[in-house]
Amino acid sequence: MTKIKILSGLNSIGGNFVRIEDNDRVIVFDQGIRFDIMAKYYSSYITPKSVTELRKLEILPKLEWYDNVDRIYISHMHLDHLGALSNIPPETELFLPNLLLYNTMEKRWQTSQTWLSLIPQKYHLKIGEIQPYKVDENDVLAIPVSHSAWPAYAFLYFGKDETILYTGDFRDESFLSEDEFFKINRGADLLNYLEENKDVRIDTLIIEGTNIGSSKPPITPNDTVKLLRRLFISHRSIIAILHSLDLEYAYTLIRLAEEFDPRCYVISDQIAKLLKNIIANVSEFIELSNIELSNIDNNDIDNSLILIPYRDVFELLRNSNFNVSNTPNLTAILAESEPGKEEGSEYSIISNWFLKYGIQYYKIRSSGHYYPYALKYILQKIRAKNIIPIHCENLKLLINQIKIYRYKK
Ligand SMILES: [Zn+2]
Repeated sequence: MTKIKILSGLNSIGGNFVRIEDNDRVIVFDQGIRFDIMAKYYSSYITPKSVTELRKLEILPKLEWYDNVDRIYISHMHLDHLGALSNIPPETELFLPNLLLYNTMEKRWQTSQTWLSLIPQKYHLKIGEIQPYKVDENDVLAIPVSHSAWPAYAFLYFGKDETILYTGDFRDESFLSEDEFFKINRGADLLNYLEENKDVRIDTLIIEGTNIGSSKPPITPNDTVKLLRRLFISHRSIIAILHSLDLEYAYTLIRLAEEFDPRCYVISDQIAKLLKNIIANVSEFIELSNIELSNIDNNDIDNSLILIPYRDVFELLRNSNFNVSNTPNLTAILAESEPGKEEGSEYSIISNWFLKYGIQYYKIRSSGHYYPYALKYILQKIRAKNIIPIHCENLKLLINQIKIYRYKK
């Protein structure tokens, strides 16, 4: 019999650990960090000491959860799904969404002065890269989804007596057109894939519910583009702060820069790598650079769009060559793609810095998750027999919604 064990991440946002036992096969989907628990025990003074301590506090998965695991699959590389590789027992197989990106991230963590240095592998793991649209030797099929981290996958497991779909984190609307999505991911997204492959019947759906119960306005990628366009019309110089895995959003900003014609700098190795990978002729309209933040001056910022990750924006502001009053038409846009706690992002602190330096800033919501109103549509597309909702702080509400929607035509 197939057993599905949600060992973590059921009624929390993040920290997913889904263990599937199917006769003698064991696979795991995600092994994330529980940032909600982390916030309870640590502060700027009290920082994690070791992986053992994080495990003890149940911020990282227990060692026995990895017993006899054939392979761990990571849906996307937000830390509440990727987790700490140093927590995984030696010689375990771990498949990641993209190795090039992982290696860039790992280098940064290895030299980090913070607890992030605990993330890279300590012992040897058998690391591979997920190949979408191919059923692998464990009967797992990865299907791309739109999310605020790229690449992101849902996993279909064709088990001995049931077919299971684990959505990972996803939204039903992307920043990309259907054609762009297809081109970038070399195929259709989850809902279109299921539409095209009606023979795939899902017995059990494990679905995330991040936005269920949230009162935040349901601003879709389309709405976000409209808002951004308004800002591009009014401002000639824009600092855009984003997550360094948020390819769809970065791509959208670059398309807008192309339309409104400011120079475009990408001040992040990782975002540059993402973009170079997927945009042909990228050099025609974007200057990818490893600019030293301390060398940036007003000439660089005037009439420019600057894409910069959350963690680096402070360095840009602290830089003495740069005087805000000499660039009066400057604004900053801060992408609020996830509830901050998913990645431990500190939106309010970044906001305070902008105010201190006299920069008008806007928070732009660009959620990586579907909104509650889309649940009915999603469930109708997936047509699952059983549903296990996870990754949700308002689980009761999600369960009730599922009860209402699943029987409605
Ligand atoms: Zn995520």
